[in-house]
Amino acid sequence: MSVFTAAADQSVCAPLPVLGSDVTVPLVTGGEVTYAALDYAASAPALQRVWDDVAAYAPYYGSVHRGAGYLSQLSTDLFENARRTVAEFLGCRADDQVIFTRSTTDSLNLLARALPADCQVFVFETEHHASLLPWQDAHVTYLNAPRSPQQAVTTLERALADRDPHGPALVCVTGASNVTGELWPVRELAAAAHAHGARIVLDAAQLAPHHPVHIRDLDVDWVAFSGHKLYAPFGSGVLAGRADWLRGAEPYLAGGGASRKVTRRQDGGVDVEWHESAARHEAGSPNVIGAYSIASACKALTGAGWDALVAREQHLIAKVREGLAGVPEVRVLSLFGDDAPRVGVISFVVEGWNSSHFAAALSAEYGIGVRDGLFCAHPLVRTLLGSDPQTQGECGAPEAAPGEKSLNAIRVSFGAGT
Ligand code: PLP
Repeated sequence: MSVFTAAADQSVCAPLPVLGSDVTVPLVTGGEVTYAALDYAASAPALQRVWDDVAAYAPYYGSVHRGAGYLSQLSTDLFENARRTVAEFLGCRADDQVIFTRSTTDSLNLLARALPADCQVFVFETEHHASLLPWQDAHVTYLNAPRSPQQAVTTLERALADRDPHGPALVCVTGASNVTGELWPVRELAAAAHAHGARIVLDAAQLAPHHPVHIRDLDVDWVAFSGHKLYAPFGSGVLAGRADWLRGAEPYLAGGGASRKVTRRQDGGVDVEWHESAARHEAGSPNVIGAYSIASACKALTGAGWDALVAREQHLIAKVREGLAGVPEVRVLSLFGDDAPRVGVISFVVEGWNSSHFAAALSAEYGIGVRDGLFCAHPLVRTLLGSDPQTQGECGAPEAAPGEKSLNAIRVSFGAGT
């Protein structure tokens, strides 16, 4: 088990303080141990700084965009400042919109509802289900798993070259895989998309906690990410990017806040004028604490300095991979090969072990929290395991019998707080 203690090596720089880092958990063997959270890809622990900021603000919060009272005005300012902080964090263009959502899943579904008529969507089969599935109502083309970043670009170029060049098109791509941690060639894919008159949305759920994501540098049209993977609490996310499709779409949710003017018609019906700003897609009372937490996390990460954070994480990745390489029974899952640049997300199978039992044993015997399963990326994990889709189980399904191929995998993931 020594490979898992690599994450505790602090020789590069100190981790950012996070909640729960001193929580102890019981072991089946007796006694207690400090919990090792190695499931950041699912949800990262919140930064202490974020929690402190929320605690400092909590006594003062009031309704947003609705109240004349001092606290309502304060909350409205904090909410709108959070929008500006996120815009700055993402390097948004001047006319981009930042919409607060519930999560990456929510953000991508929102964009899917805002597609212009007859929009073609191109998405690799390797995506997380959040970016794979929202496009079902559009003309969606699923692209086969590429085996290198270059192949990803040529696969996309070929698909786009075959499309009707006159209609609108959208490419949806992840920045870093939630299964392999491998980085995707976002800039090159964006260039390919734009060269063929398509737009591109970046699923940055796994990239944003590990690397700076800059809309203008990457030249992507939209970015989506989740607060709970970016060291903020659950329940908030972001969709940021070009305003035109969003403005032209029906509101994601109908209700107060999204509507500028509502009038009763002579015929008894109701007419609505919707806002053209981000508020159009934020109907209902917003999650102001969620937005504020995301902004606080953005500031904390920027303040810590990306160079130091990335260097530390790369050090941990190298140590974990080195440790795993020393265990002959372990096979690390990779689409692009050993040399591919990656973030701190590593999936593997252990020959002779049921992945679910292995993960359960890590928790029960060592207090190490990892994830097992198909990681909401069923097609990708099946490709990587070389397993037959017809016999493959669902997330958390029973494992292969001894001697058979593994049906699911184990994932360790870590980040700035590890
Ligand atoms: N995209 C990727 C790459 C992810 O890893 C995840 C979650 O694991 C999501 C999207 C969905 O994020 P959320 O569950 O916060 O909506």
